Amino acid sequence: MNSKAGNLYIVATPIGNLADISYRAVETLKSVDKILVEDSRHARTLLDHYQVRTPLKSYHEHNEVQMIPKVLAALSEGQSFALISDAGTPLVSDPGFKLVREAQLVGYQPLVVPGPCAAIAALSVSGLPTDRFVFEGFLPAKTAAREAHLESLQDEIRTLVFYEGKHRIAACLQSIAKVLGAQRRAVVARELTKKFETVLNGLLSDLVSLIETQPDNSKGEFVILVEGQQQKASSADLERLLGLLMRELSVKKASQLAANISGAGKNECYELALKIQQDAEEVAS
Ligand code: SAM
Repeated sequence: MNSKAGNLYIVATPIGNLADISYRAVETLKSVDKILVEDSRHARTLLDHYQVRTPLKSYHEHNEVQMIPKVLAALSEGQSFALISDAGTPLVSDPGFKLVREAQLVGYQPLVVPGPCAAIAALSVSGLPTDRFVFEGFLPAKTAAREAHLESLQDEIRTLVFYEGKHRIAACLQSIAKVLGAQRRAVVARELTKKFETVLNGLLSDLVSLIETQPDNSKGEFVILVEGQQQKASSADLERLLGLLMRELSVKKASQLAANISGAGKNECYELALKIQQDAEEVAS
């Protein structure tokens, strides 16, 4: 990097509520020579609110190939830039990856001004495990491709995080329930930080019907979070669990509880419970 080179800042902006921006983000946006924006009309609302008068340059997925060499040349001449997207953290389902990669290749390390991100905001209020998660972004638009991709995620044990918009929320939830199982726990986080913020949680089957039967639930922007596949108990563990439960409960109740605790199928537990009962009767006779 040459000594007079400017800085490239990757700046996170609100995902809805204009107040959700850091002091450093506003200062950075005021101090750079140019702000790279996805959509200047959209950016204006935020920038006017904070009296940011910095000139804007359009930077989006359709012009990034032409823009990158221009930005890199201006950086080398000492100009500073901030990249923002329409909402949240740039590069997260938003443009910017190619710019950061190309900047690194010619010796510039961009600086981050962190802040809101819909996926992280949704995880934090989801009530689903957050110690490990997989961000999947938008699923394919076409049903066959979407369901094929979901099949590849069937055995994923980490919490799954998807983005979706109003047009496909119902279809997308139906595909998730069909392929990953309607009995999985999930959360639909809608319009976070905005007036109609709603966080629905329940089984995927419940969420599908809530979205289908209440039209207001399918308006806006969504993060869908799905609990990972529960690790199944080994058959020895399952047998031990059933044995303990059957000391106190009927075959039916013990097998239902064992299925819930272990993640094994209800039928599998019931069959095993009957076998344990039969073995015990044979020993006793
Ligand atoms: N870069 C953004 C981020 O950091 O989250 C994401 C941009 S992506 C193009 C837009 C998608 O993010 C929306 O379709 C929706 O899935 C999700 N999203 C953005 N804002 C949201 C909000 N306020 N509530 C729920 N989901 C939101």
